[in-house]
Amino acid sequence: MKILVTGGCGYIGSHTVVKLLEEKFEVVIIDNLVNSKREVLEKIKKITGSDVTFYQEDLCNLDALKNIFKKEKFDAVIHFAGLKAVGESVQIPLKYYQNNLISTMNLLSCMQEYGVKKLVFSSSATVYGNPKSLPIKEDFPLQTTNPYGTTKLMIEQILKDVYQANPDLDITILRYFNPIGAHKSGLLGEDPNGIPNNLMPYVVRVAMGTLPVLSIFGSDYNTIDGTGVRDYIHVLDLAKGHLLALKNPKSGLKIYNLGTGKGTSVLELVNMFEKVNQVKVNKKFTARRDGDIDACYASNEKAMKELGFKCEYTLEDMCKDSYNYAKNNINL
Ligand code: NAD
Ligand code: UDP
Repeated sequence: MKILVTGGCGYIGSHTVVKLLEEKFEVVIIDNLVNSKREVLEKIKKITGSDVTFYQEDLCNLDALKNIFKKEKFDAVIHFAGLKAVGESVQIPLKYYQNNLISTMNLLSCMQEYGVKKLVFSSSATVYGNPKSLPIKEDFPLQTTNPYGTTKLMIEQILKDVYQANPDLDITILRYFNPIGAHKSGLLGEDPNGIPNNLMPYVVRVAMGTLPVLSIFGSDYNTIDGTGVRDYIHVLDLAKGHLLALKNPKSGLKIYNLGTGKGTSVLELVNMFEKVNQVKVNKKFTARRDGDIDACYASNEKAMKELGFKCEYTLEDMCKDSYNYAKNNINL
């Protein structure tokens, strides 16, 4: 089976490509490298011993995309490509709407033109906004608080409409919670440009001394210790979720949360990081970050029941593997 992986050089995409190659799928990556590096391809080869076909191309270029579809004859598409920085999306919303929406619409028209029926799409828990209760189930009301989240919600709507008009399509929307961790080899991991916004890449840099101190945003949330609670999931478990979605015999349009189902506070995560890595993380409490919510964690019952999804890795693994990747990539 030949799979197109858009954004396959990125953080989640690269880990998923490794799993696909390990299960003998044929993989073609399209990535414009706007937020990733070509070296990832060599690392994938080093881990798996297998080659992928790579096109450095922007999905917003419809003609180029059509040529690739014509040449490659895909059986399915996993669509990771997109811009994901929440703060930047507030500053430059058009960049996000243009990139995330046009790329997806181009992809859908090529799928239609070349008869590709199966799609797995990367959505996010951000589409739930501030949930009314926990854990979050797939049928909860949807609402977003920033342009990045709105692109995900709009794409979900586009997929629902396209599916309604073409019921022979097989579409899976995966709503990720907070992916962290890295490949056990230390070769693949999260490597954001500039100063990170997300918690784990920030913690890692403070532990390594690249950044002086972690600001913990808020100590008065309605949570176990006053700090924000999220559902951190190992990127390898997340990657596995994509393979299960590809192999799912159930057709139609399906939506699944991919999370562990367990909430972890900022302090719990930092304490675990210090303990398993035997390292100190300088920290201070600061004001809440605008737009942050108290707590967010998934009900993953639907994914467990319908996909056979089960998380293998613990918070300890996530902290260990994130730091291992950082130590192997000292220019982080
Ligand atoms: P990433 O930035 O590491 O990977 C995305 C890849 O897409 C990058 O390699 C980038 O170069 C590529 N890309 C972006 N726009 C493109 C375009 N127009 N044409 C071709 N390539 C393009 O991000 P990630 O963390 O691996 O996330 C993958 C997907 O999952 C994204 O859609 C993201 O929004 C979604 N997601 C991520 C998280 C997270 O916390 N990492 C959470 C929920 C959802
Ligand atoms: N957070 C923090 N300091 C940071 C980055 C994040 O205290 O430098 C907190 C944030 O307030 C939230 C949690 O860590 O409670 C996870 O934040 P992240 O940005 O990683 O994910 P998201 O908020 O998008 O779920």
